[in-house]
Amino acid sequence: MKNIEYGYWWNCAACGAENAYGLTSEEAEEYIRDWEADNADSVAEGETGEGACDWWYNVTAEENDAHIEDGERCCKCNAVAAASTRTDKAKWFDSIVDNLEKSV
Ligand SMILES: [Zn+2]
Repeated sequence: MKNIEYGYWWNCAACGAENAYGLTSEEAEEYIRDWEADNADSVAEGETGEGACDWWYNVTAEENDAHIEDGERCCKCNAVAAASTRTDKAKWFDSIVDNLEKSV
């Protein structure tokens, strides 16, 4: 299993194994370097690659079902992540959005 520094965990629907979606510290360093190289404008405004990495992997990726969108495979049985592998946080976030929409 990946030892992730940034990201979240999801459970395989086929075998129940816990899987990591995210980056190890080495991968994160590369992501941060690449992001800063690609986003010089944002860096000039005070943003950092670390902030971008944290925002995507720790905050928004899970809400966006990133492992399902990316078709991640289970580390144990190789099954592709199905819609049924949504995490509790993603479901919770959706229910909040639903409630907000209903109350408008
Ligand atoms: Zn599996």
